[in-house]
Amino acid sequence: MTLLSKTRLGKIHQQLIALQAELGAQYESGLPASDTVVLDQSKVGRLSRMDALQQQNMAQSTLRNLESRLRRVNRALAKIDSGDFAYCDECGENIELARLEVQPEAPCCFACQSKQEYHPQS
Ligand SMILES: [Zn+2]
Repeated sequence: MTLLSKTRLGKIHQQLIALQAELGAQYESGLPASDTVVLDQSKVGRLSRMDALQQQNMAQSTLRNLESRLRRVNRALAKIDSGDFAYCDECGENIELARLEVQPEAPCCFACQSKQEYHPQS
């Protein structure tokens, strides 16, 4: 079982549910901005077309970030259900409590996370 007390785990569970709702809402509201750029060719020049494309790219990368964060939140919630919460996905060690307080959806411990950032899987 996890090293978290029931109260603490309950709190984190609530936090994750709230985060899930918040990220979901952000994702929905970000969708229109990432849609294909429609431009009025008579009004816009080449520069503003590039601007529009850049904005679209930014919107899309924001969405991708939201999506992967949401996935982590869902995964964390599933881990609470299965009793695996607070264990690192990679090495199976306990994830630091301080880390979970800031980022309850963290899937792995600090050491494994750092390794992943050096070798991002895309
Ligand atoms: Zn680890």
